[in-house]
Amino acid sequence: MAFSLVYLEAVEVPLSATALELIAGAARLGDPVAVTNHAVTPDVVAALGAAGVSGVVVPEGGNEAAQQNFLSFETELLAIALSETEASGVVLPNSVNGKEIAARLGAKLEAGVITDAIDIAADGTVTKSVLAGAYTTQAHVTEGPLIVTLKGNSVEFVAPATAEDPDLLEIPVEDVKPGARIVEVREKAESGRPDLTAARIVVSGGRGVDGDFSQVEELADALGAAVAASRAAVDAGWIGHDLQVGQTGKTVSPQLYVAAGISGAIQHKAGMQTSKVIVAINDDPDSPIFEIADLGIVGDLKNVLPQAAAALRER
Ligand code: FAD
Repeated sequence: MAFSLVYLEAVEVPLSATALELIAGAARLGDPVAVTNHAVTPDVVAALGAAGVSGVVVPEGGNEAAQQNFLSFETELLAIALSETEASGVVLPNSVNGKEIAARLGAKLEAGVITDAIDIAADGTVTKSVLAGAYTTQAHVTEGPLIVTLKGNSVEFVAPATAEDPDLLEIPVEDVKPGARIVEVREKAESGRPDLTAARIVVSGGRGVDGDFSQVEELADALGAAVAASRAAVDAGWIGHDLQVGQTGKTVSPQLYVAAGISGAIQHKAGMQTSKVIVAINDDPDSPIFEIADLGIVGDLKNVLPQAAAALRER
């Protein structure tokens, strides 16, 4: 069986749901070989083997070089791994960094790139959501290895019956010749909440929160959810752009998306309408968000959110 590569951003034991889904996606194309930009411990290699990974490619000597070379290190590492394994495809996370690496790798190898994938078939046909998630299309690449970024919560991981004993291939960092270097790093404050794009539950606030995200955060914490926002809330300076969902923000597909004080503009729906269950809280019964909501609550979010959080805490 041919190999496929799966790029994992950070690998720890236990493997994250995102990592397992990416491995499952890569397994559709071939025998998965994991590539990551940092050194891995034997228990990580064993966990990858238990998940069906047959090889692990890492930079020899850790990730110091990767930290100094914004994503160009990872691009070069994947290019080397591709040439070593002759893999038929590369599956990456549908994150900002995953898409960036995919684009750079595609440009370097003159290979086709497909983003926003929600399914991958064994023959390389990729199903992706388009036009704000309103339609799905099928696509395949015509040049080079398939490079695809896979959305979270779209492919189910099923543990293989037998574990692999993966080969560890360490690439000397001097062989990885990145073309860019980081000159400044800006630190992001840690919220302790799940990563927005991987979260199973997202609580999102819009202009209706009127500058105060504390009730959105309170419900998110009661649910163990990530916090998100519409662009109106981000543009008003109430919350950072890294939490914006939509056409010019992040695309999420959680099991549950709670939209509070969000009208449901097409550009917002672009980032969340593939969520499995959508709950909308809005004081305008004619708000378009109710057209896509599975459950709608007409009311003032300032009453509804604290009540919901209190009820959850009592359970
Ligand atoms: P509004 O449309 O103002 O809606 C606020 C809602 O809150 C209303 O429905 C109101 O009834 C309700 N409300 C008010 N007070 C309360 C209360 N107390 N309790 C309950 N409900 C209340 N938008 C995005 O979100 N993401 C994007 O990535 C994005 N990209 C864009 C890209 C382009 C090129 C353009 C042109 C626009 C983009 N937008 C994006 C903006 C988008 O068109 C909308 O303007 C934006 O989504 C509106 O945000 P909102 O729903 O929070 O605000």
